[in-house]
Amino acid sequence: MKSKITNCYIHIPFCNTICSYCDFCKLYYDDKYINNYLSQLEKEINSIYKGEELETIYIGGGTPSSLNIKELERLFNILKVFNKSKDIEFTIESNFENIDEDKLKLYKKYGINRLSFGLESISKKNLDFLNRNISKEKINKTIDMCRKLGFNNINVDLMYALPTESIEDLKSDLDYIFSLDIEHISTYSLIIEDHTMLKINNVKNISEDLDYEMYKLICTEMKKHNYEHYEISNFSKPDFYSKHNLCYWNNSNYYGFGLGASSYAGNKRITNTRSINKYLEGNYILENIELDDRDLYEYEIMLNLRKADGILISDFENKYNCNLRSKFKELLDDGLLVEINGRIRIPEDKWYISNEIIVRMLED
Ligand code: SF4
Repeated sequence: MKSKITNCYIHIPFCNTICSYCDFCKLYYDDKYINNYLSQLEKEINSIYKGEELETIYIGGGTPSSLNIKELERLFNILKVFNKSKDIEFTIESNFENIDEDKLKLYKKYGINRLSFGLESISKKNLDFLNRNISKEKINKTIDMCRKLGFNNINVDLMYALPTESIEDLKSDLDYIFSLDIEHISTYSLIIEDHTMLKINNVKNISEDLDYEMYKLICTEMKKHNYEHYEISNFSKPDFYSKHNLCYWNNSNYYGFGLGASSYAGNKRITNTRSINKYLEGNYILENIELDDRDLYEYEIMLNLRKADGILISDFENKYNCNLRSKFKELLDDGLLVEINGRIRIPEDKWYISNEIIVRMLED
């Protein structure tokens, strides 16, 4: 099994405010932690990274843009250790609430070439529900600034299926996002996770029918605006697919550094601790799991089938000695899978039930 790593995720767990739905690995920004955190991050990277040429680096969170200029500059200097390919995709997540021109200029100086913003919604009642606070004015101004500074690859996240949201609200959010003319849109259907404010407040999910209607609206509107639906929840203008996220969906290897981050190398999945105290003491690792052939086979199916282009049959046969055409003949005959150009995929009109299809594939 190949274990050359060309992708790297860096986790910055700090946030200025905590969103009501969030179960990510995060903590309130507190400047007393930041320097120690960056020191430990540097040690972790230097003890594990083997010098491979990286094709993607993704700085996520938390909210990396919650760091101040000095802290961000220190972070970028730590990341200089990476050997970067000349056409690397170098992404940083930011929130509109705490981004400004100086930070964007710093991103540019250190080679960031893809920006990802949490937008989620523009409706006041949805933002209140999510405990977020952004305005169209701030978003418009920020996107203008990004363009002036030469950023030409921008993603925004859109959240839908909120109990406070109607189909009309979602349509307004979409229209607003289309007016920004950005390159990539990631969508998330709200899931009420344990240990979140929403769960504590006993908030319930919307009905499956409405969720499906919203998903269909998103797919139709994206198509109308020429965004390619290249993964179940991700849409992009041509040539702006997220290379970093494709590494996950292609079941490729990656490094993950920082609190709660995961790495995947060969048949090993290593997950870091979510305890800031342990991390600051240098006890990074929470678990180190060795995957067997069956696990690898399942990951390959589950992840690849999230993509529009699915699984390359010949590649799968070489890796797992398994003939996909005969193994999944029934699903192919039922139209739940299709074969196009030597690849097996879930047809787009069945993506909404992809979980059920994948469960059937993994049953035997
Ligand atoms: S900004 Fe992101 S990581 Fe921070 S609380 Fe909100 S959703 Fe969670």
